[in-house]
Formats: sequence, C-alpha cells, structure tokens
Amino acid sequence: VLKGTGSGALPPMLEQYVRMRDEVAQQLPHAILLFQVGDFYETFGEDAERTARLLGLALTHKSSKDFSTPMAGIPLRTLDQNVERLLSAGVCVAVADQMEEAGTGLVERKVTQLLTPGTVTEERHLGADENFLAAVATGDGYALALLDVSTGEFRAAAFHTRVALYDELGRHRAREVLLAPELSGNPALLSDFQARFAVMLSPGNFSEETSTAELVRTLGEVPATLDSAALRRACGAVLGYARLTQQGALDMVRRVVRFEPGAHMRLSDAAVRALELFQAQSPQGVTLMDVLCQTRTAGGRRRLRAWLRAPLLDELSIRARLDSVEALTRAPDLRGGVRSLLYRAHDLERLAARVATRRAAPREVAALARTLDLLPDAASLLSAQDGLLAGVRARLMSLPDVVTRIRAALVEDPPLRLGDGGLIRDGFHGELDQLRTEALGHRQWLAQLELTERERTGIPNLKVSFNGVFGYYLEVTSAHLSKVPADYRQVATLKDRARFTRPDLREREREIARLEAAASRLEVEVFTELRDALSSHAEALAEAAGGLAELDVLSALAEVAVECGWTRPVTGSETALTQARHPVVERSAAGRFVPNDAALGPGRHTLLLTGPNMAGKSTYLRTVALCALLHQIGSFVPADRAELPVYDAVHTRIGASDDLAGGRSTFMVEMSELAAILHGASARSLVILDEVGRGTSTLDGLAIAQAALEHLHATGAHTLFATHYFELTRLEAEFPGLVNLHVAAEEDAAGSGGLTFYHQVVPGAARQSYGVEVARLAGLPATVTRRSAQLLTALNTQGDDRRLVRELAAMDLSRLTPMAALEVLHGWQRALLNGEQEPVVG
Ligand code: ADP
Repeated sequence: VLKGTGSGALPPMLEQYVRMRDEVAQQLPHAILLFQVGDFYETFGEDAERTARLLGLALTHKSSKDFSTPMAGIPLRTLDQNVERLLSAGVCVAVADQMEEAGTGLVERKVTQLLTPGTVTEERHLGADENFLAAVATGDGYALALLDVSTGEFRAAAFHTRVALYDELGRHRAREVLLAPELSGNPALLSDFQARFAVMLSPGNFSEETSTAELVRTLGEVPATLDSAALRRACGAVLGYARLTQQGALDMVRRVVRFEPGAHMRLSDAAVRALELFQAQSPQGVTLMDVLCQTRTAGGRRRLRAWLRAPLLDELSIRARLDSVEALTRAPDLRGGVRSLLYRAHDLERLAARVATRRAAPREVAALARTLDLLPDAASLLSAQDGLLAGVRARLMSLPDVVTRIRAALVEDPPLRLGDGGLIRDGFHGELDQLRTEALGHRQWLAQLELTERERTGIPNLKVSFNGVFGYYLEVTSAHLSKVPADYRQVATLKDRARFTRPDLREREREIARLEAAASRLEVEVFTELRDALSSHAEALAEAAGGLAELDVLSALAEVAVECGWTRPVTGSETALTQARHPVVERSAAGRFVPNDAALGPGRHTLLLTGPNMAGKSTYLRTVALCALLHQIGSFVPADRAELPVYDAVHTRIGASDDLAGGRSTFMVEMSELAAILHGASARSLVILDEVGRGTSTLDGLAIAQAALEHLHATGAHTLFATHYFELTRLEAEFPGLVNLHVAAEEDAAGSGGLTFYHQVVPGAARQSYGVEVARLAGLPATVTRRSAQLLTALNTQGDDRRLVRELAAMDLSRLTPMAALEVLHGWQRALLNGEQEPVVG
C-alpha cells in the first residue's frame, strides 16, 4: 500500500492508516480512504498518486527519519466537492475522522462515512432524480433488485431473458450495480455487461444465508413475493451493501415491491433512446421528459420518470389516470391551487427517509414540518374529487398530529447544527424554559452591572466587557483608579487602564455557562425525542409523500395538456389520430408544425412510408409512437382527436445509432435490434422502423428490409415502416393490409432544382427518391450533384429494365386480351422514355 522508501518501521500514524485502509478494502476494494490529519484529509502511497491524478492535486511526501511515501491531501472544508468528483469518476470514498483533539500521542480515528455512487443519501451528492443501487443474480432466469437509499424505494423483478433484464436495468439507470459471482465470474458476460452499462460494478454478498438474514433483519421476514433464490439473493445483496454504506441504519427500507415487467408496456432501452424520452440524441436536444416536466417537486419528477419508464397495460388504470388529469384540466382553480401549494413543498420522500433513519438535521425536520403543513390545505382542495384524486387526498390526511408537534416544538428557522442551541421554541418544554429564564436573569444582571457599578463607585466611564481569557471583567481608566472599591480584584494592568473582576461575577458567569450547557443538552434530547417520534410515523410519511408525488404528476400532465392544447385519448381497438403533432418538434417549430392524421387498424396495419430525406418521415413515425406512449401513462396526447389501443410494446429501430462503446459495427447493432423486434413483436405491438437496412449495401439492405417487413406484416403488429427503398412500395399490391403513404414534397420551379417540403403525409407511394436534391441543398458541390444525377438516371433506367423483366415474368398471358397487352407495352415504353428524357435533375 505504502510503497515507501527506507527500511524503518512505519510511523504510528501511518500504521493506523494502513490498518484502516485494509479494513475499508475488505468492504470496498477500490475505495480511497480520506484520512483526517488536522485540517486536511490525506491519502498516502498508491492512493495518494491515484487521488492526486483524479483531483489534480500536487503530490508531496510524508517523510520521517527513515521512511518516505507519497502524500496528497485536501482541506477539510473541500470534502464535499472532492467527494463529488471522486464519485462521478467512479471511485468510492471512505472518510476517517479524528475522534479527539490532537494531543501528544496517536489520535483516535474512525471511519465515519462510506460513500458510493449508488448509496449516497446526502442531498448535496444527489441529483433530484432517483439514485438506484442494483443487484443482479441468476438462477432460473435473472433476478434484479433495485434500491434507492435516498427514498427507501425498493423493487425487485425476475426475467426470463437477458435482453429483458438489460432493458429494465437500462431504464432505471442504476448508478452502481452488484453482480452475483456467477455473472461477474464469467468473462464474456462481464464484458458484455460492461460494454452496455457505464456503471460502477461493486462486490456484493450474494450467499443465500446472509441474504435471508439480511431480509429478515430489514423487513422482519422473507417476503413471500420473493419466490426464487435468485430474487432473494439479489435483494439480500443490495440490502447488505446499502447497510454497510449506511453504517448499519436501513430503517428507510420498509417493504420490497415485486414488480412484473409484463405488467407494463414493454419498452426496450433502444426505444427509450430512439424516442428521446429522457435523453436527447443531440446535446441541446429537448426530450419528452422536458416537455412533460411541469412537475413542481422532486418527488413528482421522479414519479413522472417512473410512469414514463413503465406505461400501463391495464385499461382501467389508464382510465383512472386520464379521469384525474381531465378533472384537473377542467378546473383551473383547483389546478392552480394545487400547483402553488406544491411549489412550496420540499422533497418529502427524501425527508421521510432521513427521518426514518433518524438522521434528519434540525433544518430538515423544519422543512418536513413546512411541507406537512401544506397537506391539509391540499387535502381540502381535493375534497370534491373522486377516483385517484380522492385516493391522494386520503393519503395526505393521515398525519395531522405529527405536524402540530414539530410546529409546536421547533423554531421557524432552526440552526444548521444540532449542538448550536436555539432550536426548540419557548414554551414547549417546562424544564428548558426554566433553564433559559434563569440564564436570562443572570445575563440581565450583567447587562445592568455597568450602570449599577457606575452609580455605586462614581466612576463615570466604568465598563463591563468580556474576553476569552478571564471572562467578564470591569475596566477602569487610570484617572479613576483611586475610586475602585475593595471588593474588586485586579486581573490585568494596561498602559492607561486596569481590569478587575469580582468573585460574584465569576460565579454568575459559571452559572450562565452551566445553564446554557444544560439547556443545549436538553434541546438535543428534546429534538432527538421528537425525531424518534416522527420516525415511528415513517410509513404514513412515505404514504403522504407518495400521494404528493402522484398529485404533482397528475397536475403537471393536466397543465401540459392545457398549455399545449392536447386532447384526451379514447382507448379503443385501433389507432385513429386526427391532426397529431410531435410533442417535442412542435415546440421548436413555433407554430409552423404541420399536423398529420394516422390510422392503423384492420385492413391497414402496416404503413409503408416513403418520401425524400428531410420530408418528415421519422417525425411522423415518432409522433405515433409518442402518442401511444402518452396514452398509456395516462396523459392527454398532442392531437385534435385520438383513439388508441393498449399496445403491449412499442418497438423501435430508428436511425443508425453508433454503439462505439460496445465495439460493434453500426450494422451489427441494427441487425441485433431488428432481431429482437422481430422476435418480440405481437399482434398487439406497435412497431416503428426507420430506414432498416441502411447500414449495408443497397441490395442486401433492400432484401433485409423486405423480409423484415413481410415478417412483421404476418405478425399483425401495427407497423410503421419508413424507407428509402422505393422498390418496397409494390408490396402494397401483394399484401392486403399493407398501405403506401408518402410525405409530400415538390420540386421547385423548373431549373431551380430545389425541393419544397410540405411535411404532409398523404396516401400512395412517393414518386422517386429525392436524395440528390437534398444533397444539393446540403451544399455538395454542383459538379458532384450533377454527376450524381447522371448516375441516377442511368441506374433508374436499369431499374426500369429490371422492373419490365419482373412484370413480364409475372404476367399471365393466357388471360391477357390483345388490347390489354397493347396497353402494357405502351406503359413500358413510356416508362423507358421518361427514364431517359426526364432526368431527375436538369
Ligand atoms: P425524414 O425522416 O423524412 O428524413 P425528419 O422527420 O427527420 O425527416 O424531419 C426533417 C425535418 O423536418 C426536421 O428538422 C423536422 O423538424 C422537420 N419536420 C418534420 N415533420 C414536420 C412537420 N410535420 N411539421 C414541421 N416540420 C417538420
């Protein structure tokens, strides 16, 4: 550890460091130990080199007579910001503090904090979003446990396939993952995992015995819902690890929710990315979350994310949410009232978790009280509501006595630290009041002393002051020294004045100190009692927090619906959207967005969309997918009218996304995503495919695109397929239910060679690809576009040749009348002439 130079024994302090670091390493193998030495946290040896590199610190040396080792340190007060940087660099941190003032011997030190990315609970290390620690184990399938230590949210699920597991893990964006040995010990699996998730992997204890013990210790039992060894091991592992980092206190975790991935719409990680739900593909891009996020509280924001990650399948639950959203859209006063209350709420979920673990500082308890104070008002605003809003109301109303107790006890704006005193209100605690009154009496006596002594001694400028050396003293200038009475005892002589004390002054002073210390101890006691009392309401607090979060999401969805002019969707058997808009593109289009209709149902379940690049094909595809998603989270949708079925999944394969981290070629990624879709799509799925086959040569691509389209068509899934392969448009004649659409665009006045996009989706196939025009618009040199145009003409002619041959082969001559044959011949000739005489670009 300390690759020091010299042969001498380690100095005692370094010996202590090495011992503590070894202890930490047994729990968190790669953690850095920050070791308090006076005003600095120091690291030594290899860790010093690592820390200096990570934090950009200067490396010094700790040297004694015959030993020297690298050393790097940070000032105590910069701990938070440096921990932050280490955590985001993927490094865990242990903090060892001095437990006593430095004396002559070795100072006692203790590890007071273990900080890891997935388990921090201090507000300053957390974003507003969830912070999940995950554990994965295998057995019969895969098991996933997810724990947000900052709120106590604890979830577990089982999966049959690794893909499903990855999707769920990706959706929850865990910051730290524990892998069971059977996974981490398999190099192929491990590297696959690391390629997908840039996340810290930490060791967990997955043994069945310790897992069971951990579950019993935390939840009082092994919940029956954890019905496989893998589930129990994953849950036990997260709990054990979280307990370790929380120094034993895991009271915020009260139950584990077994969730069924099948109970929600399947939404692959690829779909989440392609639809830009949480993360835009361009750095400044806007996401659906950004549009929806009119929530006013951190809890509401987290809840909204959870809803978006897991759209519903149950029609009744969807309707219940829609009913509440609609009620809130119809009642502007109610909505406004609720939202202005929410605006004043603190993060109740996190505060409740802090209270449950008895860690809350005075200010946190005061923030809790201020937030709880809002609940009765919120509840009474909801008094006339039914459905989900009535449920929210019930959850908000279960806590009145708690608030009154904190309110009565705590001052409005308590001090930062518990020991600072002045945090319990006057009149709350008799004994405390008594101590304070007595101390006050003495202070008043002191305050009066200057006046009374001036009168008694006749010294007009006598002063009473205080300093740290001899406490309260009386000061007399040299001119009046003769008048000093006999009961004064001189303690200091200055050039032109002298300082005195009196025995009773000393006594008063000691008394004040005693009373104030006693009061402060008592305050801590009263506060701790209050906090303990609160922690026994943890369950109800969490309920209320959940209610508040739900209310926040429902009113945010209503707010968005009203602001953006969205409509309530009707749950039906087909998709029928009138004047639908893309919720994100619409915002940036500033009134110039062109709405479109969309219809998917019997007789038209596969829509093949062609049109030039940049015409608006992907926007149209995403519009439909986003409307489906919004419907199933219980939101209004951006359309004038909307009927939507309950889709079991939204599958997407959009654009040529690179997976550089995974080291796979774009085409490989595209094909494996496509494979997952083809395997997964059912008659109840919505499938959105954009430019399938683009990653390979034209002929391969065309063949793959057609085969995929035929396969999907056969499943009966609602499919939207955008393509630049115009050859595919002829499939309309072959497959009932497959319908051609195109996005309207028009060549500009002859000679200009430009294109006007109307973004309007209309029936029928596009006439031709406009790739060359778009290239010209994008600024390719004229020589290049002209040459492209020539080549295109030549290729088109060949295309025509091929088409003629195909048509001829497919023709049933025994049924062809001479007249019809003549018409066919005429058509062919026209096509050939057109191909030669009307080049696409003049
Ligand atoms: P394609 O997939 O056909 O290449 P996109 O869907 O990517 O085209 O759209 C190209 C551009 O046109 C985008 O910048 C988008 O903002 C804009 N756009 C697309 N659809 C519309 C629409 N309906 N109304 C207004 N602008 C649109």
